[in-house]
Amino acid sequence: MCGIIGIIGSAPVASRLIDGLKRLEYRGYDSAGIAAVHQGVIDRRRAQGKLVNLQKIVEQQPLEGFVGIGHTRWATHGAPTESNAHPHMTHKVALVHNGIIENHDQLRAQLIARGYVFASETDTEVIAHLLHHELNDTPSIIQAIRITLHQLIGAYSLGILIRTHADHLFAVRSGSPL
Ligand code: GLU
Repeated sequence: MCGIIGIIGSAPVASRLIDGLKRLEYRGYDSAGIAAVHQGVIDRRRAQGKLVNLQKIVEQQPLEGFVGIGHTRWATHGAPTESNAHPHMTHKVALVHNGIIENHDQLRAQLIARGYVFASETDTEVIAHLLHHELNDTPSIIQAIRITLHQLIGAYSLGILIRTHADHLFAVRSGSPL
């Protein structure tokens, strides 16, 4: 069972996100990551293994931004590698996920047919591309999230960051705790 944390802060949140993830370490995990929005751009850092690995990467390559999400992953779909670690993102959205998307194969095939390119083996990445796609078509963010969720079969809790709404975090759940 993974850990999810989100912070809307008044100062850079990277180290506080990692501190928050440390408090969830007892739940078990195999990789970890954080993402934040800074000057209208979403950026992320991820690492395989323990949080100390992520911390080292963030020390070498600091992550700016006052609003962010963090995740400790317990791999269900795809090996516990850095490229499969959350957050998964496009240039518009970043998200972290606890749970399993059962229809990920079908959704991935539809998204690939529409031209989306996948960078991980996870079920989670389909949600990022699907939400990106719906945001292109739907002016309301809440509506785009709703349309995305209606296409998912499975259990999920999600923390979502959207580039154009850098003072908000979106959190949803179905069948998974958050
Ligand atoms: N199914 C997702 C994955 O394998 C989320 C796993 C979790 O809950 O940490 O990446």
